[in-house]
Amino acid sequence: MTIRVTVWGENVHEQKNKVVAGIYPDGMHNTIAAALNKAGGISASSVVLQDPEHGMTVEKLAETDVLVWWGHAAHGAVEDKIVERVCDAVWGGMGMIFLHSAHFSKPFKRLMGAPCNLTWREAGERERLWVTSRHHPITRGLPDHFELENEEMYGEPFGVPEPLETVFVSWFQGGEVFRSGLTYRRGAGNIFYFRPGHETYPTYHDGNVQKVIANAVNWAHNPLPRIADPNKAPNVPVGSTLEPVVERGPRLHHDGEEGLR
Ligand code: ZN
Repeated sequence: MTIRVTVWGENVHEQKNKVVAGIYPDGMHNTIAAALNKAGGISASSVVLQDPEHGMTVEKLAETDVLVWWGHAAHGAVEDKIVERVCDAVWGGMGMIFLHSAHFSKPFKRLMGAPCNLTWREAGERERLWVTSRHHPITRGLPDHFELENEEMYGEPFGVPEPLETVFVSWFQGGEVFRSGLTYRRGAGNIFYFRPGHETYPTYHDGNVQKVIANAVNWAHNPLPRIADPNKAPNVPVGSTLEPVVERGPRLHHDGEEGLR
């Protein structure tokens, strides 16, 4: 089975900043998608913020098994109705991977229900990522640690809920540490947050980083059919219970109604 991946790119700094354009002449989203297409078993395409509906049409989401999201400069430009559509897809079973500064993206904050804040410094420091969950599918084929010579520092405390699993912890030259690979489940959707990927450094050309993202796609993929309406909250009236129920007390609702929102 081929896993269908969509890489969502903000595509702002690639257009505005010469350093970023030099490292990612095809855009970060296309670099990430190209690496995934070489991984085997994955068919990746990309969309950008500037596409109609930010590329996140109902049809595109329906044919996306795992969505990869990179954003930084234009989180606020993502329309709320598109954010809801993306979150509905996750709750219905779509896998999602948030990269680097997507910690402050609207869909990540919505799915985490937390500030998602952290400390940071842009000084081209060495980042050393340690595997903290041995034999986790996301770490398959990786050494027990690997380094990125130049990265932005993200430090604790990271304002996210306690994850299902912490897969990586990062150390930075300045002394900070950070939980850099975290798994979550929201509704039927598997979510992975992966820290590296500041746009002025060639992080997404790194073989280990590419391997993590490909592994995470395989981990996040839920092969079961998408839940069509994950927000559905059906009323089960007295007349349709499995065991007999005698109705008592006053009622606010009538049988079978949609309920309040
Ligand atoms: Zn950054």
